[in-house]
Amino acid sequence: MRLRNIKGARDVIAKSPLVVHEPEQAKGKWNEIFGNDHPVRIEIGMGKGKFIHELAQKNPGINYVGIEKYSSVLLRALQKMNTELLPNLLFIRMDAEDITEIFDREEVDLIYLNFSDPWPKDRHAKRRLPSREFLARYDKILKKESVLEFKTDNKDLFEFALEELAPAGWEAVNVTFNLHEDALLSQGNVMTEYEERFSANGNPIYKYIIRR
Ligand code: SAM
Repeated sequence: MRLRNIKGARDVIAKSPLVVHEPEQAKGKWNEIFGNDHPVRIEIGMGKGKFIHELAQKNPGINYVGIEKYSSVLLRALQKMNTELLPNLLFIRMDAEDITEIFDREEVDLIYLNFSDPWPKDRHAKRRLPSREFLARYDKILKKESVLEFKTDNKDLFEFALEELAPAGWEAVNVTFNLHEDALLSQGNVMTEYEERFSANGNPIYKYIIRR
């Protein structure tokens, strides 16, 4: 994701009703915020938000929260939403490192990670969103019976992610090394921006679904 500093991005975000501005205040109150008791699903590192926006359109009975670290990227998601406001979709600009400050124990029904940054240097492994450090954070906020879904085109990152499962106390429910050719897992697959781009280049897409 290119991180150009877009002038005024922070102002637009500060004024947007689609963004939860003090997300720490929302902890334990997400159902109140959405005004219903529907399940809450989150995408961490949503980029421009194509995936989560499409899911929210398709599933009005589910609430979605898109999390993105950078204002310049979140701005793009907000610009897209201007054409169609959805009552079941909200955004947060934050670093997912602090995710346990925003969601209470078992407050989240499903976590999506899509095309997470690979952080290829070993010393940065803790920053990878499917690392054991992040899995420990997800463990706190995800319902016990729920799953986390991760897609990537990066083989090294995917292999790393698989190796992290056992030490973190998670297990794979489904694994594919070619999502788009997988009869079961490709059903109902919603493509992300990166997925469209990489699969158009002929890259296979890897996916796992995991639980504790
Ligand atoms: N999920 C989108 C897709 O598949 O098209 C975007 C993928 S992009 C490679 C990764 C996104 O994750 C970037 O927008 C980046 O800013 C965001 N990101 C990376 N680390 C993050 C973190 N710790 N917390 C929140 N967002 C993060």
